[in-house]
Amino acid sequence: MLSCLLRGGCSPRLCLWALLLLPLVSLHTLNQHGRRSHGVNERPKLLLVSFDGFRWDYINRVPTPNFHNIMDNGVIVEHVENVYITKTYPNHYSLVTGLYAETHGIVANEMYDPVLNRSFSMETDSVYESRWWEAAVPLWVSIQKAGGRSGAAMWPGSDVKIHGMFPNKYLLYNASVSFETRVERLIEWFSAPKEAAVDFGVLYWEEPDESGHNLGPESPLMDVVIAGIDEKLGFLMNELKKARLYENVNLIVTSDHGMTQLSSDKIIELDEYVSRDLYTWVDKSPVVALLPKEGKLDEIYQKLVDVNPNMVVYKKEDVPEHFHYQHNVRIMPILIAAKEGWTIMQNRTGPFMLGNHGFDNNLISMQPVFVARGPAFRKHYIKTSMRSVDLYPLMCHILSIPPLPNNGSLLNVQDLLYPEPTVSTPSPAPRVYVYSYAPVVGSFLGVAMVLGFLCFYIRQVTVKQLPSLKHRSREMSQPLLQEDLHL
Ligand code: AMP
Ligand code: ZN
Ligand code: ZN
Repeated sequence: MLSCLLRGGCSPRLCLWALLLLPLVSLHTLNQHGRRSHGVNERPKLLLVSFDGFRWDYINRVPTPNFHNIMDNGVIVEHVENVYITKTYPNHYSLVTGLYAETHGIVANEMYDPVLNRSFSMETDSVYESRWWEAAVPLWVSIQKAGGRSGAAMWPGSDVKIHGMFPNKYLLYNASVSFETRVERLIEWFSAPKEAAVDFGVLYWEEPDESGHNLGPESPLMDVVIAGIDEKLGFLMNELKKARLYENVNLIVTSDHGMTQLSSDKIIELDEYVSRDLYTWVDKSPVVALLPKEGKLDEIYQKLVDVNPNMVVYKKEDVPEHFHYQHNVRIMPILIAAKEGWTIMQNRTGPFMLGNHGFDNNLISMQPVFVARGPAFRKHYIKTSMRSVDLYPLMCHILSIPPLPNNGSLLNVQDLLYPEPTVSTPSPAPRVYVYSYAPVVGSFLGVAMVLGFLCFYIRQVTVKQLPSLKHRSREMSQPLLQEDLHL
């Protein structure tokens, strides 16, 4: 229409109508979130990336220009409290559900469910059994139920059918698929034609966790590993830029947990205290889960409770409330939690690692990195702390879908957003109303243009046609032509 006006190729009346309608159309397409209403696949875009075991302070240990670029143009949360136990499976599921492990049911990497009488291990195909996952609904399922689309590159649980659904696009877990290939798939999915493009993507990479276990986080060799992760992030950012996605996609880069240094001088050998005949070993260090043989619970507990100052032994019902790690049948009757830096084994013959995680989620060494950028986020903003369960309501807000009941709160993290929403009630998060200045400014400009055009039009008509009243009345009575209505 504007070009039509500029070319002078349409009648002034037609343009006047179009200008009058312009602000109305603009207001109509704004929803209660103050954003443009999202037609099919016009939702805001979000990519959640996890570098497994990337501890919060790694970014300041060696130059990490790409992490810093995101921070400078977006936000950083310095301290993220993740969920207990600080292992891969429980934490990745918490990130996409906003639930503590006791609630979402993936309480460990290795579990036993006495009701199902089944074992779960991330090293077996048991991970593909839906029933382990269905106490919660991951965000990719929710967004699809809300009419959006999702794509997943090896996020734990994303290749499992949960509540009858896989992500629209996903990769079967295969650790030998390179980071670059995972990124390329995601870029394809985000850049697909409008109807097919994903709105929400998740990307998982095994490092620096693997090196952290093998080398120990304090090893100078970890410097190269961390720099390598920063390069991988740079690759991702470049690919997003090349695909013209970088400015539109909200990018969150985080992790499941940190890592702490172990030592072969700090090993607790359970065989010294209690016979293996009394229990089944379910999960390994640093939070060892034991299933006592029939009637042996108290005996095991008494044999372990005060024998070593470097471990804390809990009966399930005595696990401190702040761990949120009690109310699930998959949490075993006895837990033995190693103190930081210690390893619990049955004896020294098993494999020993120089780094580990799984410890108390209040330890600073267990905290993951968190940086984010994109249209939804503030720029150059530093936040001191958040809980990883708060990420879920934040992501739901960004994606404009109502969050399911969760343990997080948008209130805790809304200051990361631009513009900051006004949230009045705590989680389970209500629908959030965000008002932007854009529609007001847009409408004001529209009205101003109309008024300006009106003045110009009246002046033209008056000046040109005043001498001929006959001519003028004929023009005034002329009906709107049908073709003029085709705006
Ligand atoms: P953790 O030691 O708890 O950090 O576990 C990390 C390991 O989890 C990785 O090195 C992978 O081998 C494994 N892992 C991560 N995602 C998956 C998956 N989707 N399926 C199977 N194993 C996985
Ligand atoms: Zn992990
Ligand atoms: Zn690990």
